[in-house]
Amino acid sequence: RAKSEGRGTYHFFEAGMDATLQRRRTLETGLRDALANNGLSVVFQPIVSLQTNTVVAAEALMRWDHPQLGPISPVEFIPIAEETGIIHAIGGWILEAAAKAAACWPGHVRVAVNLSPIQFKRPDLIATIRAALKAAGLDASRLELEITESLLLENSQSNLDLLLALRGLGVRVAMDDFGTGYSSLSYLRAFPFDKIKIDRSFMADVATKADSRAILGAMISLGNNLGMTTVAEGVETAEQLAVVRAEGCTQVQGYFFSPPVDGATMLALLEAEKSDAPRKSA
Ligand code: C2E
Ligand code: MG
Ligand code: MG
Ligand code: MG
Repeated sequence: RAKSEGRGTYHFFEAGMDATLQRRRTLETGLRDALANNGLSVVFQPIVSLQTNTVVAAEALMRWDHPQLGPISPVEFIPIAEETGIIHAIGGWILEAAAKAAACWPGHVRVAVNLSPIQFKRPDLIATIRAALKAAGLDASRLELEITESLLLENSQSNLDLLLALRGLGVRVAMDDFGTGYSSLSYLRAFPFDKIKIDRSFMADVATKADSRAILGAMISLGNNLGMTTVAEGVETAEQLAVVRAEGCTQVQGYFFSPPVDGATMLALLEAEKSDAPRKSA
């Protein structure tokens, strides 16, 4: 009996592995198709200044609706794109799409695009970015690139050179998911970031737990004292917003203000804000 149970378990496990691999292959093929046939899209999440209470930037986030499987999260498909090298093509695609969208926004609103560690390692990255800006007619000062600290783990001299080259273009560079990596603090010393985005995991209990609030406050102070813009990610409630504001954070992003929205909605939101502005300042 024990023996047959063991066998059953084994077969179950094997079948599970198979399904995982199969899904991976389906997604890999599907991703190539999506890129070739306009199957990818981009949404934008507003980033709000706590000084002016207006939208000063938006983060471009990739979306993929698979014809059979439905919406696939970037958390699932980005790693597959990275492992298969498709990330270079889709990364270039979103840079262009985001830059084109931003070219229609008011001039003070920036667009932020996530860069994968894999893209960062390719020497033609600078040329790709310059080409995307040129194609869109967008000034470099209106582009922000978000880089998670994990990519900086290796090869620090060449990464530093690339970061300096990016800033040489006039592009801003943000450290994404700050606080979640192993070396957040040493990176701040080694690399010239314009901005840190404090990971949304730190937002969890800030309104109810003194310790959580102290940690968040220390991260904000650190960023501010280093002359960087500080952004709180994942702000979902008025209570969290109040804490983030009181701790001196520069900008916020999260469902409290807006979830990611499609390009037309983003444009409408910015237009509405523009016509609101006189009322607000009056
Ligand atoms: P990220 O760069 O840290 O982006 C923020 C993520 O948090 C987005 O998830 C956004 O929808 C989500 N979010 C925003 N506000 C809230 C909130 O108040 N509560 C909660 N629970 N979540 C919030 P999304 O779009 O699923 O993207 C997940 C990750 O996938 C991104 O994290 C980024 O690392 C990666 N990603 C997305 N698009 C791209 C892309 O074009 N290129 C690359 N390389 N990575 C991308
Ligand atoms: Mg990001
Ligand atoms: Mg982030
Ligand atoms: Mg994150």
